[in-house]
Amino acid sequence: MPIHVLPPDVAAKIAAGEVVERPASVVKELVENAIDAGARAIRVEARDGGRRLIRVSDDGAGIPADEIPLAFARHATSKLTSVEDLERITTLGFRGEALASIAAVSRLTLVSRPASQSAGVEIRLDGGQQVSLGAKGSPAGTTVTVENLFHNIPARRKFLKAPATEAGHIHRVVVNYALAYPELRFHLTLDRRVAFQTGGSSNLYDVLVEVMGLETARQMVELGSQPPAPGSQPPAIRVSGYVGVPSLHRGQRDRLIFFVNRRWVQDRSLAAAVTQAYHTFLPVGRHPVAVINVTLDPADVDVNVHPTKSEVKFRDQRRVFSMVQKVVRSTVVAAASVPQIRVGFRPGLAHDAAPADSTEFSREEAERWRRLVAAGRRATQLGFEAQRTLPDDETGSLRPAAEEIPLLRVVGQVAQTYIVAEGPDGLYLVDQHAAHERVLYEQIQAERASAQVSSQQLLEPVTLELTPAQAAILDAEADTLAQVGFAIEPFGGTTYRLRAVPQILLKADPATALADILAELAEGAIPLSRQSDERLIVTVCKRAAIKAGQTLSMQEMQELIHHLERCSAPRTCPHGRPTMIHLSAAQLAREFGRT
Ligand code: ADP
Ligand code: MG
Repeated sequence: MPIHVLPPDVAAKIAAGEVVERPASVVKELVENAIDAGARAIRVEARDGGRRLIRVSDDGAGIPADEIPLAFARHATSKLTSVEDLERITTLGFRGEALASIAAVSRLTLVSRPASQSAGVEIRLDGGQQVSLGAKGSPAGTTVTVENLFHNIPARRKFLKAPATEAGHIHRVVVNYALAYPELRFHLTLDRRVAFQTGGSSNLYDVLVEVMGLETARQMVELGSQPPAPGSQPPAIRVSGYVGVPSLHRGQRDRLIFFVNRRWVQDRSLAAAVTQAYHTFLPVGRHPVAVINVTLDPADVDVNVHPTKSEVKFRDQRRVFSMVQKVVRSTVVAAASVPQIRVGFRPGLAHDAAPADSTEFSREEAERWRRLVAAGRRATQLGFEAQRTLPDDETGSLRPAAEEIPLLRVVGQVAQTYIVAEGPDGLYLVDQHAAHERVLYEQIQAERASAQVSSQQLLEPVTLELTPAQAAILDAEADTLAQVGFAIEPFGGTTYRLRAVPQILLKADPATALADILAELAEGAIPLSRQSDERLIVTVCKRAAIKAGQTLSMQEMQELIHHLERCSAPRTCPHGRPTMIHLSAAQLAREFGRT
């Protein structure tokens, strides 16, 4: 075939494919247009997963009658005039492609009326060709109806997923914009059923309750505000939003939601920054829940990276990530909460109050939690102050003095595994192994920071025969092993001599302890740690810590609790599992029918 320029309608369909990938992309573009038009209320309707019909109505500025056909020309926009404008985008749209693209692959009807016009105008297009244009009575604002999406691109239509799946994508788009714009009212109908709506209260927490349910929302904490550097302007990068307490984790990253200047973005490195902020708080392979707004000068971010505008480029990527990580970390450390025991409702007992395992929370309970959160936020600000003096990449070993547990009185031991203790607000069950791991972990980190690791010479050096895999790890980790207190020297082949061990391992048999540690490292079962020295330390602590099944004296338990009280993150072990659970006085009273 000789080279030829494609006919305009073919070119238009190809271009449309970049913007309109699936029904949810249509919803995204139309909602963005409504927001850009200053709408206060946005209604979205979809039928059959959006194949049959998508309708988005808004009460925004509307399009002047004489501009309506132009809105469907490619690269026609009211939001941008010069290349310079591209440097500082403040609207969601700017490419002037969406209406043209959607119209090219569907039957589209748009009715619009600016408040100043007495009547509206209706335009109909089919496959991008104008079918009709005329006056039409309508409320102020704009309604776009898209029918039979992809009817003229069978290839695309074939690739659509089941209606329920496409509806799910639409749902997600609307939810994300509702989270980004809590001051707007959103209303989503799927196949004539109301699927989601928000009240436009301006309060992000209210939207979180709608999106995630009260049960999850009440486990989320507002990010601490960032105190401006003394004597300077407000920070150039602002990070706000909500993050889950560490016990609220998921198998997928799907609840890590980011907005940059109120634009929803998908960014792996932002997700990594947040996950890293939970370092040692989360179990292996689990992901936190977070809704985070990053606000910065539009000139410092390029949104024109991709036709769907869901990726962005930061001018100073490192600074953005480090800011996000710091703010999240300080909030998480301050808020790491003691998981509450949920004692089940047992019939036959007198229960005035709601059963404690009910997932319905009363207004008062939600209110009480919010007050707790407010207190946590104040603590976060203190924590943030403490962190600001430390270098960026040391977030893993920060020690803000914000998260505390109350002073506990040891009552006894259960199952040779748990310490029973009393606090001012009820009963605590402490996992002796996890708690000791946490204590040792912080001890080693502190010693390492001050370069004063306590190491103990062995009376007799021990000769170790290692497997090649263990020897490889030992060689790779030689520096860190020395830093934490091991003195090991090669003795030919895979044989080594062990001369000294960390003080904390002294009670163990040194040779088996080291072999265990190397074996564990070889399995790679340690969570979320990017640095191998972290992994090594966590492993050493695990090996050195008191085991489950070990009987402890009253004094040993008191000592352990005492050390735990002084940890900077006493509520989780270095693997991210909880060190304790809490049964509050109120819950006890309720269980015994005293309230
Ligand atoms: P862009 O949003 O990139 O400018 P679009 O193709 O999405 O491009 O829209 C073209 C133009 O149509 C917009 O610049 C805007 O002026 C107008 N427009 C589209 N939707 C609406 C709406 N819901 N309310 C008011 N004006 C709209
Ligand atoms: Mg647009």
